[in-house]
Amino acid sequence: MPLTRAELLTRISEQLSASRFAHVQRVEQTAIKLAKKYGADVQRASIAGLVHDYAKQRPDQEFKRIIRQQQLDPDLLTANNGIWHGVVGAYLVEQELGIHDTQILNAVRRHTIGAVEMTALDKIIFVADFIEPGRDFPGIEQARAAANESLDAGVRFEISNTLKFLLAKQVNIYPKTIDTYNAWVAGKS
Ligand code: GDP
Ligand code: FE
Ligand code: FE
Ligand code: FE
Repeated sequence: MPLTRAELLTRISEQLSASRFAHVQRVEQTAIKLAKKYGADVQRASIAGLVHDYAKQRPDQEFKRIIRQQQLDPDLLTANNGIWHGVVGAYLVEQELGIHDTQILNAVRRHTIGAVEMTALDKIIFVADFIEPGRDFPGIEQARAAANESLDAGVRFEISNTLKFLLAKQVNIYPKTIDTYNAWVAGKS
């Protein structure tokens, strides 16, 4: 890690509103608890929790420029900030914060839409983001109970709940979100 914890916190706080900065700190604490409970890397869980929404408040044009320049998945061009801040945000975390750890960067990349194959760290950040103590939505108690049962149960509950929510809103669903749902909830056809 090139930055000290204090430097990292300053750099993150400069990018985020006060409420978003409080959120990432709660995700960090939740991720640390999950890492201890499930025997994952606590240090990585801490850093990944802190940086997962680093790019959340960047303008759309910046994400589009990076998608083109870095030749990322062309499906990304029709997505939105919800998808970009994680999938493309990982690039900004690496470039600007000097975090080159592949496990941390993948956890940032996967924190919103999950993935067909997820490491314990991926699952921890995906789930911690959903159940941190500041979250309140119908189903939150079930989401916390699922995460307490197992990381996989937490992932299954979350992707299922998110897809239902997106379908109800009739918004564009990113293809990889459906891949995650198929892999974790629907199983093989
Ligand atoms: P946050 O960054 O802490 O607010 O939480 P997330 O990174 O988990 O989610 C960001 C937003 O993306 C949420 O509003 C999700 O509902 C939304 N989202 C997740 N998957 C998709 C998708 O496939 N399509 C669209 N349009 N939005 C999605
Ligand atoms: Fe996010
Ligand atoms: Fe999430
Ligand atoms: Fe978040």
